Order: sequence, then C-alpha cells, then structure tokens
Amino acid sequence: MNLNTEKVHKFYTEDLAVRASVVISTGICREICSIHQTFPLATMAVGRLLTGTLLMASQLWEQQSLSVRLEGSGALGHLYAESAFEGTCRAYVQNPQADIPHLSDGRLDLKSAIGEGVLVVNKNIPFQRQSQMGIVPIVSGEIGEDLAFYLQQSHQIPSIVSLSVSLDKEGKVTAAGGVLIELIPGAPETIIKNLEDKIALAGPLSVRLQRGDNPREIIGEYLHNSPIIGVEHEHPIRYSCRCSMEKVEKTLTLMGKATLAEMALKGENVGVKCEFCGKQYQATVTRIKELLRLLATE
Ligand SMILES: [Zn+2]
Repeated sequence: MNLNTEKVHKFYTEDLAVRASVVISTGICREICSIHQTFPLATMAVGRLLTGTLLMASQLWEQQSLSVRLEGSGALGHLYAESAFEGTCRAYVQNPQADIPHLSDGRLDLKSAIGEGVLVVNKNIPFQRQSQMGIVPIVSGEIGEDLAFYLQQSHQIPSIVSLSVSLDKEGKVTAAGGVLIELIPGAPETIIKNLEDKIALAGPLSVRLQRGDNPREIIGEYLHNSPIIGVEHEHPIRYSCRCSMEKVEKTLTLMGKATLAEMALKGENVGVKCEFCGKQYQATVTRIKELLRLLATE
C-alpha cells in the first residue's frame, strides 16, 4: 500500500520569464532508505538524486520519463534514479552502506563519496526507439549543482537546482525536498543572478524544509518581486519498479548457454534479487533447463 501523497508543485512568474518546480520528498526518501537499507551518505546522495529527477521529470510531457546515472569514482559507486512525468520513480545505489570519514565540521563528505566521473541523463520519449542521451562531467558532487550544470549545457538555459535531505542522529530522514528554477528561453539572463542573490538571502533550503515551509512559501521567497501562478502537478509520487519474472528470465538468458548450463548442472534453484526494489525471484532448475533448450533452438 502506498500512502505517499507527495506531489511536485509547479510555478510560473506572471511575466512567463521563469518557471519552477518544488517538491517536498521526505516520504519518498524514507522509502528509498528502507528499500535499500542505506546508511546516511547513500540516503543523502540517492535522496537528492531522486528528488532532482522528480523535478526534472515534472517538466517533461505526458508519458515521458528520464533517468540520471551518476558514475563517480567514490565510495558510493554508481547511483541511478529515474522518474516519469506521471510520478512513478525508482532509484539504486551501488554501495548503500558506504561510509567515509566526515568533514572537519561534522558534515557528511558527499563530494568525496561521489568522486570524479560523469553524469548521464537519458530522456525516454514514447514512439522513439532510442532515448535522448546527454553526458556531462561531475562538476560538484553535491548533485544539485551537477544537475543544474547538465541543464545549462544541454538546454542552454540558465537553471538553479537546490536539493536537500536532512537526517537525524540515527540516520532517519527528517525533511527532504528540492527546487528547480529555469529561465524561459528569451528571458533576460540578469534574472538568474537576481534569483541567486534571493536564494542566498532566503537561507538554506534544509532549514526551510525542516521548519515546514510549503512549496509556495519556498518559491515565494525566491520570486518575491514577481506575481506567481501555481499549478499543482496532479500526479502523486510513488516508488514503482517494473521488474518481473519475465525480465529476470531475459537477464538469465543473456548470461549465455555456458552459464545457464552450469546453473542447471548444479541442480539448485537460482535466487535473483531486484536491485531496485529488493523483490526476490526464484528460477527453478526445471525452468533454467527450459531456457537453455530455448536458447539451443534459436
Ligand atoms: Zn524491482
């Protein structure tokens, strides 16, 4: 049962120079933490990444989705998150229990845990066989800045992405959320500088989320000189995995005849766990032999 009622909220300035998406993602970040049994570093990293993809996906069209892969050299390994316009999402982190020394001020060292590498964005558009792919280097490791850099590079539109996941001493998510602000093409670029100044003045997003500011209050302070129009993105966010026994069998088949034959000879059922949702699948010896036969006749 999914009780998550979180949604992305979208805003435009009345002069149509700026558009923004805001999301409170505390519930979905807690869910990721429990699905992947993450330690604080991974909770923060994958929570921010998923929050960022939810914001980016809300600005797509119906039936479109996107995924972001962070391929860094740090202790967390690879991170992945995908979100659809309709609110479904899922995420993965290679080393959910990675732990490295904290920074001297006690904060988690996310930058080092992510390391150097690339950020790969895939946009899936229905009826197009290939997704649109974009790659940029990891410029910050804080994730929000990395997504903003990608948007700037790929869309040539100045963007601000601010993401926050706060944890208590036990590593439980206390508040999470994010803001994505984009200039609409043709708007004067000086606006983005003004926005950055206002965001700096408004104080850290983490503080605002923890004190319970709602999306309109959050964005209102950033755009306080401009009348804004709010549009609720009607799709609730929900963690959803597309795994199935059929896909598991496809993966097994892709491992090739030799591997399947070895599995069959061992005479034991093969357990496969979905890395996105933790669901366990069992391929029986009989079924593995059948897959092998199907492969042999191809
Ligand atoms: Zn799954």
